[in-house]
Amino acid sequence: MTGNRCAVYGCNNTFSTSKRCEGERQISMHVFPKFKDLVSQTIRKEWVTRCSRRDKFNPDTSRICSEHFTETNYERDLQHELLGLPLRKQFKKTAVPTIGIMKKIPPKSKSAGKRDERMAKRRRN
Ligand SMILES: [Zn+2]
Repeated sequence: MTGNRCAVYGCNNTFSTSKRCEGERQISMHVFPKFKDLVSQTIRKEWVTRCSRRDKFNPDTSRICSEHFTETNYERDLQHELLGLPLRKQFKKTAVPTIGIMKKIPPKSKSAGKRDERMAKRRRN
């Protein structure tokens, strides 16, 4: 059974990892967007592509862990922010995984490649 595991190729995060809170690093699992409208269809396809999986898998029973999403994939909880309450993480409908993805997608600009390299180095520390 691979149902408990993050669908992204090369990622070993599982549900049990998500239950174990290691300090700040809290992993949550996100279900694939359901076919509802054109937007969710496109996003869903994008998620599948970004998993870089060579094998067939069923997105309906798969999840992607929060490690592949940046803060910008979440709506800001301004209300709670202002009140100083614990923030609720609202996942954006258009969020796509971007971190730790083995991508074949070309970089947006020529200078982006160098920056990615530098960021990758920094992340390793
Ligand atoms: Zn993952």
